[in-house]
Amino acid sequence: MKKLIFKLILGTLFAGTASVVSAAEVNLYSERQPFLIDPLLEAFTKATKIKVNMVYIQKGMLERLKSEGINSPADLALTSDIGNLQNLVEAGVIRPTNSKVLEKNIPAQFRHPEGLWYGLTKRARVIYAHKKRVMLAEITSYADLANPKFKGRVCSRSGKHAYNVSLLAWIIASQGEAAAITWAKGVKANLARRPQGNDRAQVKAVFQGECDITLGNTYYMGLMQTDEENPEQKDWAASVNIIFPNQSGSGTHVNISGVAATKGGKNPKNAIRLIEFLSQDTAQKLYAEGNFEYPIKAGVVVHPVVASWGTFKADSVFIAKIAEHRTRATRIMDEVGYNN
Ligand code: FE
Repeated sequence: MKKLIFKLILGTLFAGTASVVSAAEVNLYSERQPFLIDPLLEAFTKATKIKVNMVYIQKGMLERLKSEGINSPADLALTSDIGNLQNLVEAGVIRPTNSKVLEKNIPAQFRHPEGLWYGLTKRARVIYAHKKRVMLAEITSYADLANPKFKGRVCSRSGKHAYNVSLLAWIIASQGEAAAITWAKGVKANLARRPQGNDRAQVKAVFQGECDITLGNTYYMGLMQTDEENPEQKDWAASVNIIFPNQSGSGTHVNISGVAATKGGKNPKNAIRLIEFLSQDTAQKLYAEGNFEYPIKAGVVVHPVVASWGTFKADSVFIAKIAEHRTRATRIMDEVGYNN
């Protein structure tokens, strides 16, 4: 009985403390996986004493934020690809954030001009080509994927997937709409099979001989090369070369993972502190390394596996500019019947 009373008193005390401490917290919705984010959040809490309540949402973060509206407990939304960030903006669930630290750490190319979102890591969309069936000199640009010489030799994930929509939107932004339509038509005409599967499944298809070339984000190479749970993926990875396209032109298309502050958030100051923390050198290194991505902040070193792929020239089109063309890009994918 005494023990019970003691527990009750203790409970009340802690409840009281909790309500005081609750000022120092921040609520995060994340589409990025806990294995990647948890170490960063722990470091943030250790450094700032601000508690982070992270909700991992594998799918449907946009819908959830929309339905919760201004009552959403979320302060921040963490996701990948400009497409997902743009969808949050268009849904009206985001508010701008301004910070001198973020302006300094995150190049203008990789953040929204009015602070609606900030890039935190970078990934390039590259060509994966079979080491033996495709000579390196044969394919050096995205345009080559549409060259009739590769008829029946290209694999692709859905043309409507965010990664491919962003790539096509980038082509519109850099070369114009007519070029984008020609390209999408050309790639479609070269497909070995109907678009299906994720980025890794394309490399698997190359390994299995269903096709010779495909597109994928760089970090999947790192994930496949180091996958101890599914060691067969190491064989997929070993069967292909990474080709950074357009090196003699404007450079390879780069996309981001990023973060945005949500309208309903009750802890805007702590939210900014967390974004700022994620933009600093130590967190940048940890974040990029965890998923074999490139840090957004200049001068932060990459993981040795990432370094092994070599350096490359990245395209300089502003991500916000690419976002403007995503709707049109999606329609082009429909018009050319990319997925049919
Ligand atoms: Fe991905």
